[in-house]
Amino acid sequence: MVRNDAEKLPVSAKEIPQELRGLRMTKQRREVYSVLLRNRDHPNANEIFQRVQKGMPTISLATVYNCLDALVEHGLINQVNFDREPSRFCVNLAPHVHFQDKKTGVIHDVSFKDGCQITDLLDLPRGAEVSELELTIRGFFKGS
Ligand SMILES: [Zn+2]
Repeated sequence: MVRNDAEKLPVSAKEIPQELRGLRMTKQRREVYSVLLRNRDHPNANEIFQRVQKGMPTISLATVYNCLDALVEHGLINQVNFDREPSRFCVNLAPHVHFQDKKTGVIHDVSFKDGCQITDLLDLPRGAEVSELELTIRGFFKGS
């Protein structure tokens, strides 16, 4: 089933240890990770770059990409793709799907109701184990 170990991970920048899941948290990685923890709006690499630059004006876009790659590789963030847009990054490692507001483009994390799993809704082939889940639902908010 989908990994659910979000509870072991830091929830704010202050809680980021020297090393996370075997990844040494350099100043740059820490800053990139902090930006993602602070604002969970699924930014793309360019948006992350702009945010990181505020606290670290000399950082390059290439470094931000390298940091993101390392964080993804160590399972600290997820890279998510919506349509043909540039990849976005999500720090929420708990099983969830995305709801994209078609009016504003904002992407919201949607968790499963207590006790529900995606596999309850699907007629998966016999023996199939879900290891990754990427599902985006699009719609509007009533009254908006
Ligand atoms: Zn997400």
